[in-house]
Amino acid sequence: MHIVRDLFVNINILIALVFAYSQLLNWTFFQGLKPFSRKIAGGLASGVLGVILMQFSIQVTPETIVDFRHIPIILSMIYSGTIPAIVSALLIIIARFFIGINLSSFVALLYVVIVTIGFYFIKKLKIKRVYKFLWMLFHANVIFSFVIVFLVPEWDVLKSLVPLFWVLSFIGGLIGYYFAEHLRKTHKLFQHYKAQSTKDFLTGLWNVRYFNENLKAIYEEEHIKKHSLLYLDIDYFKRVNDTYGHSEGDEVLKQISNIMVSHVRPNDRCYRKGGEEFSIILPNSTLTKAQEIAERIRRAVEVHPFKLTSGKVIFVTISIGISHYPTISQNGMELVENADEALYLSKESGRNKVSIAPINQSGTPLAK
Ligand code: GH3
Ligand code: MG
Ligand code: MG
Repeated sequence: MHIVRDLFVNINILIALVFAYSQLLNWTFFQGLKPFSRKIAGGLASGVLGVILMQFSIQVTPETIVDFRHIPIILSMIYSGTIPAIVSALLIIIARFFIGINLSSFVALLYVVIVTIGFYFIKKLKIKRVYKFLWMLFHANVIFSFVIVFLVPEWDVLKSLVPLFWVLSFIGGLIGYYFAEHLRKTHKLFQHYKAQSTKDFLTGLWNVRYFNENLKAIYEEEHIKKHSLLYLDIDYFKRVNDTYGHSEGDEVLKQISNIMVSHVRPNDRCYRKGGEEFSIILPNSTLTKAQEIAERIRRAVEVHPFKLTSGKVIFVTISIGISHYPTISQNGMELVENADEALYLSKESGRNKVSIAPINQSGTPLAK
């Protein structure tokens, strides 16, 4: 009964630790580390996982304990790489010596070194991840069986210990693998849907939903800092579609988006509001700076040869409207209204223009 209870405890610890380990790997701070630091930190984390598992060993016979220390090494070899796996193996070896320096700890050292080398070669095989995992478990079990024969020469003990280790190792390993895979897939899907919910599929710019969210944040800021808002609209875009087709029109949309992104500052955000209408939020910018950026984009589009998928080259222009807080607009709502109005001015006065929403004495825009 002890074995079943210990196994149950170990599997639960393994699941909790695999969860913590995967949270760490997905943590933005961790992902922001330099690649080498990330490898070392990831290796240390899985090493700690192994060391903790060693503390909850399964009492197989009154004298012998076994544990799942090889599973974190397998997990880090598969999910993080060779360096993290070596780091975690080293940590497990060192921790074993802290428990006691005796023949058993030297044999444990040998065991960890041999299984880690084996994992490295199995990782290189061109087979499915689940098969790699099974081979790694198999390899660890074979090495364990040799080691334990050397350490515990009594046949009576061995005949129950070795088969039990095989069974426990596979149960623990497969549950660990299932859980790690489940977390990996959920995280991947989460990232995918998160990106999709804020990005425009065609152009890769931020989408209108994210634009509204960001604007709302600006409205809600009690003391908003200086902000500029640019509205951009392609001139006579309908003609492009009518002449060359909708998919060539899409090509133009993509190229304009690239021009926008490459002409703004790193913190400025470009959005596709829908159709052929775009906007840019320029945080912490003066009106002069906004004008300068808008003019830069207008000019870049004007001179850009839009190469269509058919090979034909066309030219298009855009109209831009600028509004600015606090010189022109008194709040977030006005910021939007004024940008729209300024864009209308650019269209009215002949297109391919940058206009600023004019203000009257009391601060309300003149143009209607
Ligand atoms: P203006 O200079 O007044 O802006 O003229 P315009 O033709 O650009 O303006 P209008 O708003 O009348 O037409 C916009 C056109 O944009 C209509 C539609 O054919 C096109 N359009 C909207 N969304 C998309 C899209 O996702 N892809 C493509 N290719 N075209 C789109
Ligand atoms: Mg339009
Ligand atoms: Mg247009």
